[in-house]
Order: sequence, then structure tokens, then C-alpha cells
Amino acid sequence: MSDEDGEEQQGLVEQLLDGLPLPAFTLDERDTVRAANVPALAILGERARGRNLALSLRGPELLDAVAGTRRDGAQRRILLRLPDDAQYRVKVTGLPAADPPQVICVMQDVTSEAQNEAIRREFVANVSHELRTPLTAMMGFIETLQSAAKDDPVARDRFLGIMSREAGRMNRLVRDLLHLSRVEAEERVRPRETIDLPGILRSAAASVRQVAEAHGSTIRFQGIEGRVTVPGDADQLTQVFLNLMENAVKYGARDRPVTVTISRETTSRGPVIRVDVADQGDGIDPIHLPRLTERFYRVDAHRSRAEGGTGLGLAIVKHIINRHRGWLRIESEKGRGSVFSVMLPET
Ligand code: ADP
Repeated sequence: MSDEDGEEQQGLVEQLLDGLPLPAFTLDERDTVRAANVPALAILGERARGRNLALSLRGPELLDAVAGTRRDGAQRRILLRLPDDAQYRVKVTGLPAADPPQVICVMQDVTSEAQNEAIRREFVANVSHELRTPLTAMMGFIETLQSAAKDDPVARDRFLGIMSREAGRMNRLVRDLLHLSRVEAEERVRPRETIDLPGILRSAAASVRQVAEAHGSTIRFQGIEGRVTVPGDADQLTQVFLNLMENAVKYGARDRPVTVTISRETTSRGPVIRVDVADQGDGIDPIHLPRLTERFYRVDAHRSRAEGGTGLGLAIVKHIINRHRGWLRIESEKGRGSVFSVMLPET
């Protein structure tokens, strides 16, 4: 092939790569990048053309695949992990007829797929662990009741009491898991009803009254009086405020009230109704705040469990508020308490 033919052919290869939506580049027999489209240069760097691939990208597994394809002509697919945690599936195909012979690499970004998969795996591991803990305790007590404590009525009563608590814990966990999966599934469906927010807050407060009394706490309302309506799902919003009030009571200070304030606010996203649920507890270290609404994230797992928590309450809250196109703001100061603010668009 003449030099001119070779150049023409190289031009064609470049045009072909430019037409591809995925990052793609070719390498010659010495692993020099011959052609690369714009998405590929975004990964390899603007100066990658004409340089050895190893100078632009750290991927020994990719170079191995390229050498293999060059040797036997067979197509290869590999998973390439870059130091910034990005992941690509790369398809390596031989272009033996090109002059010089080249290998074309087409990359597909699978970073978010891989991240979703990691999140799913972690979730399954967490659920299994949360279920196994009470289950193991119950199995131990059943065994003891069948043997050593068989004829000891005092021990039997005590063990049955513990088993009942552990079964309750599993029951709450399963209930919250189902709830979470339902609210996640509905997250993109806008609520159609219009609800009276103070009514919802009162009904949530009534459900929390018993827990509040047990903690020597009360729930006080302040702010706008009378009807305040927003588009919303009554059951779900009741759940949001029930979770927030219950947390304020559980993690708040004994014998100190929880204050719920309703106000109107104009934000950059339009007019909202704002509900603040404030406690006077120990507060939360700022390092925890960004992760608080993650499933199973707890500041103090021991305390959460002792309070009968599942670690899913705030994750449920977040999804329900998202469905209402609203947002949650958490402000907390160590030693002074926390304020969980829910912003709900008025229309
Ligand atoms: P849990 O079932 O553990 O209460 P949540 O999802 O409702 O789960 O809350 C997650 C964690 O956030 C809790 O375990 C607790 O550490 C922290 N938290 C929630 N609300 C408060 C609050 N009002 N004050 C202090 N910490 C809180």
C-alpha cells in the first residue's frame, strides 16, 4: 500500500471513530494511539494521539488483551478499572487489514452500573446481618428452653420475654423493608390528593404520644394556625412526621419537649411550607449529617437498637419527600439538639 493510501485509510478510521457515540481509539503494533475520538480523548487526555497508550492510561489488563487480539485476531472484552474508580467495559477488535495493522478499543462506561451493584450487595449484606442478629438470639433461647431451662418457670418467662422482643425487632425490620421498597417504587408517581398539613401533624403526634410519654417528653406545636394545604399523600406524609417526631423523642433529651413549627417560606425553588421538628438532645456530629438518610446508617447502632430502631426510618422519609418534590434539611449542634426541616412545595 502506498503512503497516500495509508493516509487515506487512516482518515477513514478517524472518521469512523468520530461517528461513534462511545469512546474509541486505535493502537498500532507498538501500542501507540493512532486515532481517538473526542470522548476517548476526554479519558486518555488531549495529548494521547501519537503516544504510547501506557503514558495515558494505567491498564495492564487492556494492554494484555490488545496483545492477545493482535496475536490471534480474536475479539476480547475486558473490564477496565481506572484509578479514579471509573469502570469501563472495553471491546478490543483487530483491524489487521489497516496499514499499519491496528487494534480498535471501544469503551463503555459501566461505573454507575458497578456502583449500583455494589450498593445492592451491601444492602443485602446489611439486611442479612440485621435479621441474623435477632434470629441467632432466638435460636439460642429456644435451645435453652428445650434443655436447661425446661423446668424453670422463672427463666422460661424471662427468655420468652426476650424472644418476644427479638421477634418484634424482626417484625419491624420486615415492615420497614416492605415500606421502603413500596415508597421507592412510587417515587416517580406524583401524589394527587391535597392534604391539610396541620391535620397530618396532629395525627402523627397522636401516634407518637405513648413513646413520648415513656421518654417524659411532649410534642408542642407553634407557627401558622388553621388550614395549610399542600399536594400530598396523607398516609406517606403522616409516616414522614411520625418518623421524625419519634426520632426527636428517642434521641432528644428526657423531660424536654419536642417542638414542631409550621411556617411559609419563599425559596429559590418557589414557595414552600416548612415544618421543623426540633429536639433538645445531644445533637449529631456534622460528619454524620450527609449520610444520615442512607439505609442502615446510624450514628450509634447500639442506642438505635436499644430504642427499637431499624436504621431505615430516615431513608423512608427521604424517598417520600422526594416523591413530593420537597427536600429535607438537617441542622444539628452537639449538645444543643437537632432540627429536621421538611420543605414541601405549596403547589
Ligand atoms: P433508627 O431506626 O436507627 O432511628 P433512622 O433512619 O430513623 O433510624 O435514623 C438514623 C440515625 O440517625 C439514628 O440511628 C440516629 O443515630 C440518627 N438520628 C436520627 N434522628 C436523630 C435526632 N433527632 N437526634 C440525634 N440523632 C438522630
